[in-house]
Amino acid sequence: MLEAYSRCWTEIDYDAIEHNVKEVYKLIGNTKLMAIVKANAYGHGAVACTRKLVECGVDFFGVSSIDEAIELREAGICENILILGYTPVEHFHYLSELNIVQSLVSYAYACKLDAYAKKNNIKIRCHCKVDTGMCRTGVIYQSQQKDMKEIIDEYHLKNLSVEGIFSHLPVSDELDEESKSFTVNQIQLFKEVLNNLEKEGINPGICHLQNSYGILNYGDLKFDYCRAGLLYMGVTSDDSVETLSKPDFIPILSLYANVSMVKWLREGMTVSYGRHYTVTKPTKVATLSIGYADGLTRLVSNKGLEVLIHGVKCPIIGNVCMDQCMVDITGVEDVQEGDVACIIGKQNGNVVTVDEITRKSKTINYETLSLITARVPRLEKRG
Ligand SMILES: *Cc1c(COP(=O)(O)O)cnc(C)c1O
Repeated sequence: MLEAYSRCWTEIDYDAIEHNVKEVYKLIGNTKLMAIVKANAYGHGAVACTRKLVECGVDFFGVSSIDEAIELREAGICENILILGYTPVEHFHYLSELNIVQSLVSYAYACKLDAYAKKNNIKIRCHCKVDTGMCRTGVIYQSQQKDMKEIIDEYHLKNLSVEGIFSHLPVSDELDEESKSFTVNQIQLFKEVLNNLEKEGINPGICHLQNSYGILNYGDLKFDYCRAGLLYMGVTSDDSVETLSKPDFIPILSLYANVSMVKWLREGMTVSYGRHYTVTKPTKVATLSIGYADGLTRLVSNKGLEVLIHGVKCPIIGNVCMDQCMVDITGVEDVQEGDVACIIGKQNGNVVTVDEITRKSKTINYETLSLITARVPRLEKRG
């Protein structure tokens, strides 16, 4: 990796994670934070985020796959790691070798893992996953079908050490009555499972239910852990979404690109692939060295998405290309090749947020951030 700036780069303020974690703790009290660092910490750099979070006292991390767990172990992270998703049979050996906790994605899967552990004379650490309404993974425990026996049986598998139990909230971000009652019902179902286990004399281990919006809207559930990704990065899914608590987060990621060329275009000229933008008056244009292969989605083409140049908001014109895009900078003085454009972040006191890209491309910040590709250097913000 180059030590200097490239065509485009992110700057990540890892120190601000500490502030964001403190804001989260104001909402969850004695519940502990399991930090989710899957998908390269949604594009923010999994190892760097994890190191900072360890400094903040976080002792449990969630990833989506065994490769992500291996990356953390190879970087010397010794804390607990839970794989939220599926690990295929060929990779079971890593679980015990690297002391990783596996989610039990189904009862059949738990049996397979148990058989493997028995054959190899080992114990595998696991968390039981209960499906209270997401219909993604886990033993079903919903109003329509309650497979309590499978949950109990998972705890009784001799070669698995089931150390925890969790479920997931698909509409904790929505505050309409229907969504609220769905989430409240999920909380109830999860508690019912815990009670049933207790009646069987089973210690459920560590219990965790809330994701980021579970924290913002249902903060005081008092389970052992909650699982948050987005919040320690200092953003929400979309800034137009209402939440019951509104912590003072600092977004930790900024995105920049170099200006590669400045020129005046004349009336009648058309900009970029597809010729979707026609110049109607003399227009000063900067070409930026960032495109959709860097994660600036082509969906923002020609939608007036503004970037900052010399702190002034300038709209992208024409289609975003793979490695480049064009911006109308008419009226911004003295822009030169090598100047820096800010796509996400602050410049000269002005701000452009990730939410603006998200709105123009009709998605959520999770996707906008995790789409920033591997070729974009992640630089640590200093000072
Ligand atoms: C990704 C994920 C999370 C974290 O979600 P955020 O909204 O970023 O807090 C929590 N739990 C599970 C099961 C997940 O897959």
